[in-house]
Amino acid sequence: MMAKYKDIGIKLTPQRLAILGYLEGNKAHPSAEDIYNDLHAKYPTMSFATVYTTLATLRAKGCISELSIDPDKKRFDPNTSDHNHLICTSCKRVVDITVPFDLTLPEDSASDFMITGSHVEFFGICPECKKNNRYSREDMEKCV
Ligand SMILES: [Zn+2]
Ligand SMILES: [Zn+2]
Repeated sequence: MMAKYKDIGIKLTPQRLAILGYLEGNKAHPSAEDIYNDLHAKYPTMSFATVYTTLATLRAKGCISELSIDPDKKRFDPNTSDHNHLICTSCKRVVDITVPFDLTLPEDSASDFMITGSHVEFFGICPECKKNNRYSREDMEKCV
């Protein structure tokens, strides 16, 4: 994995390597704040700006994708293969939906665009939040 970053011209400082290592195989869709909070203890000199600019560079190079599914904060995904997302509107947990499902845009609704991709965001209440009644009436109303 690290070789792939050498090819795209990212200078691999120890702090950047720590961020790359943190992201490798990470399925939690962390925000810049999450990454900073988790790494800061181990790398006290790491600044939030370093985390932020590293993420911006990786995103610009297409190594990670940025998700807008959480209205509170941008989330990042090291898995850049085609998949969709489901968020718990209560605890904001984001999970992957990797199983393909039929998603065909009726031809006459595409405004003559040539469709090259899609990303679907699902909203719901995760099993833990459901079990612990951690959802509001508003969350429920979104479900109907
Ligand atoms: Zn939840
Ligand atoms: Zn994902």
